[in-house]
Amino acid sequence: MDSGGLISVNMNSDLSNATSAVTARDGAGGPSGASANSVPVSLSVRAHGGGPGVERANDRGVLDGAMPLAGPLVDRYGRVHNDLRISVTDRCNLRCVYCMPLEGMTFQPRSELLTFEEIERVARVARQLGVTSIRLTGGEPLVRKSFTDLVARLSGIGFDDLALTTNAMQLSAMAEPLVKAGLKRVNISCDSLRVERFAAIRRRGDLATVLKAMDAAEAAGLTPLKINVVLLRGSNDDEILDFASFARDTGRIVRFIEFMPLDAQGEWDRAQLVPGREVFDRINEQWPLAPVDGDLGPAPAERFRFLDGVGEIGLISSVTQPFCGTCNRLRLTADGAIRNCLFSDDETTIRDVIRSGGTDEDVEQQFRRAVWAKFPGHAINEPQFLRPARSMSMIGG
Ligand code: SAM
Ligand code: SF4
Repeated sequence: MDSGGLISVNMNSDLSNATSAVTARDGAGGPSGASANSVPVSLSVRAHGGGPGVERANDRGVLDGAMPLAGPLVDRYGRVHNDLRISVTDRCNLRCVYCMPLEGMTFQPRSELLTFEEIERVARVARQLGVTSIRLTGGEPLVRKSFTDLVARLSGIGFDDLALTTNAMQLSAMAEPLVKAGLKRVNISCDSLRVERFAAIRRRGDLATVLKAMDAAEAAGLTPLKINVVLLRGSNDDEILDFASFARDTGRIVRFIEFMPLDAQGEWDRAQLVPGREVFDRINEQWPLAPVDGDLGPAPAERFRFLDGVGEIGLISSVTQPFCGTCNRLRLTADGAIRNCLFSDDETTIRDVIRSGGTDEDVEQQFRRAVWAKFPGHAINEPQFLRPARSMSMIGG
C-alpha cells in the first residue's frame, strides 16, 4: 500500500525503539479500521517537510535532537500542530448520558478560567507559532457570558478557520451576531431525530430547539453545517439510516462519532460503542458511498460522499480506527492548560505562566514543551490504558 509519505510508528514502542509498522488510513474504499474488539495499535505518522529549526524524522519516524526553538509546532514524530481547540467553560446546560452525570457534576470556580483577554493573548502566540485553525468548545461555549465578544477578539487575529462546537440550545438568537463577529463554521451536536429519544440522551435539551437552530445557523451563512452524532448501542444505533437520509435531504454533513472513554461518570463500556466500520456498511448497503477525494488530511473524520452525488457523511472512529498518526490538534482547557491529546493526562499550564508575569516567549515555550511531550498515539485499545483524570467536558471536546 502506498503510504503517501507517511512514516509508521508502532504505538507500543517508546521513543528509543519505535519501529515501522502499518499505516492507519489508506483513504480508498471503506474505512480501513479493525473491529472494536481487535484493534492493531500501529499508527501512521506524517513525515514533516522541515522548516526553520525543524529537523527531519529519522528512519524510525522520530525526530532526532532537541526540541526546536523556532519554526512550527512540531513534535518528535514530525507532526505539525496547527489546529487549536479552545474550551471556554466546563459548564453546560445539558447533561448528555455519554458526557456528564445528571446530578452532582462539579465545575471549576470562575476565577480559575482564563479571561477573554488571556485567551486572546494565548491565541495570538499560537497564531505566531503557525496555528491557523481555532475551534471553540467546552462544556457548552454558548453559556459563557458575552461569548460573541470572544469570537470578535479571535477573529481580529486572523485565523483561516474559526469554528464552534455547540449543543445549539442557545444558537438560534446568537447565530447572526456570531457570524458578524467573525465565526465561520459551526458543528451542532444532535444524537437523535426522535423527540423523546433526543430528550432521553441529551437530558435537559429538546429536539425542536436544535432543529430550529440548524435553520438559523444556515440562514446566517454558517454552511455547510456539520451535525455530530454520538452513537450508542441499543439506544440510537437504529437511526443510522435516518441520519444518512437527513444528510441527503438537507445537505448537512452528519458525522458519526464513536463513544469514547471520556464520560465523567466513568461508565464507558466498549459494548456500547458502535464501530465506524459498521456505520459505513449499513449506509453503504442502502446508498453506496465513496471516499471524498483528497481526504488524506489531518481532520479526524473520514469523509464519504454518496455515489449518486447527494450529500456527505463523516466517520470519527477514534477508538476502533485511531487517527493519531496525522493528528495536528492541541487543546487549551478552560482553566488554561495545554493538552496535547484528549487521552493523555499530560497538561502544560499557560494560565500560571501568564498570571505570574510570564512573557509571550514564556507562553511560546509552554506550547513547544506540550507538543514535544506528545506521545505517538493513544492507547485506548491497550490493556494498560487508564482513563484520563478529566472527562470530555472538562478538557474541551
Ligand atoms: N457542548 C457542546 C456540544 O455538545 O456540542 C460542545 C462540547 S462537547 C464535549 C463536544 C462533542 O463531544 C459533542 O459532539 C459531543 O457529542 C461529544 N462527546 C461528548 N462526550 C463524548 C464521549 N464520551 N464520546 C464521544 N463523544 C463525546
Ligand atoms: Fe454538555 Fe456537550 Fe457534554 Fe452534552 S456533550 S453534556 S452538551 S458538554
